[in-house]
Amino acid sequence: MTRRAGGSNDAPKVALIVQKFGGTSVGSIERIRAVAERCLRTQREGHKVVVIVSAMSGETNKLLKLAHEVSPVPDAREMDVIAATGEQVSAALLAMCIQAQGGSARSLLGHQVKILTDGAFAKARIKTIEGSKIFSTVDKGQIAVVAGFQGVDDNGDITTLGRGGSDTTAVAVAAAIGASACEIFTDVDGVYTTDPNVCPSARKIPRISYEEMLELASLGAKVLQIRSVEIAMKYGVPVHVRSSFSDAPGTWVTGEDKSLEDVVVAGVAYDKSEARAHVIGVEDKPGVVAELFEELANRNVSVDMIIQNATAGASERADVTFTLPRTDLLRSKPHVEEVAKRLGAAGVRYDEDVAKVSIVGLGMRSHAGVAAKMFRILAKESINIQAISTSEIKVSCLIHEKYTELAVRALHDGFGLEKEPKDATKA
Ligand code: ADP
Ligand code: ASP
Ligand code: MG
Repeated sequence: MTRRAGGSNDAPKVALIVQKFGGTSVGSIERIRAVAERCLRTQREGHKVVVIVSAMSGETNKLLKLAHEVSPVPDAREMDVIAATGEQVSAALLAMCIQAQGGSARSLLGHQVKILTDGAFAKARIKTIEGSKIFSTVDKGQIAVVAGFQGVDDNGDITTLGRGGSDTTAVAVAAAIGASACEIFTDVDGVYTTDPNVCPSARKIPRISYEEMLELASLGAKVLQIRSVEIAMKYGVPVHVRSSFSDAPGTWVTGEDKSLEDVVVAGVAYDKSEARAHVIGVEDKPGVVAELFEELANRNVSVDMIIQNATAGASERADVTFTLPRTDLLRSKPHVEEVAKRLGAAGVRYDEDVAKVSIVGLGMRSHAGVAAKMFRILAKESINIQAISTSEIKVSCLIHEKYTELAVRALHDGFGLEKEPKDATKA
């Protein structure tokens, strides 16, 4: 990133504002017209506006499906060439809608900006963003419409930033150009205590710390992509998550403060995107798990939960269970099986019908018994826990996928999240 976000203290008189609109918000021509109106309104208020757009809703899935019709494991470079087109379409359509409403706008693709990334197709990380094209556009009074999700690597190849990556484009652009805020417009009016589409009693959180948002995002709350929260935290970009359907204030994602620490459990998240692999009966000796996970790391597969069952008795054999992204399962299988064979394992089994449910809260650092309470709530619903992982501010349980919604609602209400924070501190 070339410049740091200015923050509110040294914000210039004419604010530079980044507004990002997700798939549903640009899901039809009618919706894109409404986005154009909103951007023009912000500009009329005296601001310089940079808009980041996602592909129209459903479009990226359609594009990925087309590629998979050609090949079960499509070529990664070509896959990104296809996937990036969704954002190209919505950027041009939005620029045209702004022009049709009498405004001035210019679309910019990742390589035009230029958003330089590493070469990890489908999960590229942004290295630098040049501000010059964006500045020259907004300085001419035009709205800069930047295609989200896409970048370009050192070889000039098109890359994409992972699902939900337009959030990351938005926050990274905001950091690079020193925008005073990054507004994430979406189909819900903020960050909720859990997914409002799953739990009717979910409550909008007016303010949440970067740390909690980072955990919620990495545990499946797709309202913000993880990487976008990491960048916001690193560069101190204030992020406002809000509805593209109303003017209601949403949720500010900001730095931590004392009042946020009082909340033991701030939110519940779920993730159905992982699969479980069991490597059965490997030798119980030093170096075994190193060999297995090195193989996966070399293939760029991110492993999440890991359990190694201690050897019972004198068998000197252990089972290693781990979770990995479902999208990486197919390409990982041959490598897992090859290492398993090398390690003398009795076999490998896979499950795709698993889900991870998690609770997150800064207050967990100073309160005991939170995990036990979570296990009891799940037990009361007769939900079996297949694996557990914890960190300072979260507890995650792997369960059967069919119980996800039940578990989320039970945990949400079990921890009193439907009530204002004062009551929710009673873990
Ligand atoms: P966009 O297309 O605007 O990027 P996403 O579908 O990626 O929108 O993210 C918004 C969705 O995130 C919501 O519709 C909601 O179902 C889901 N979501 C999951 N957890 C939460 C949460 N804690 N708060 C708000 N939304 C959440
Ligand atoms: N269009 C991409 C996706 O569906 C990126 C985004 O919407 O943020 O994942
Ligand atoms: Mg999204």
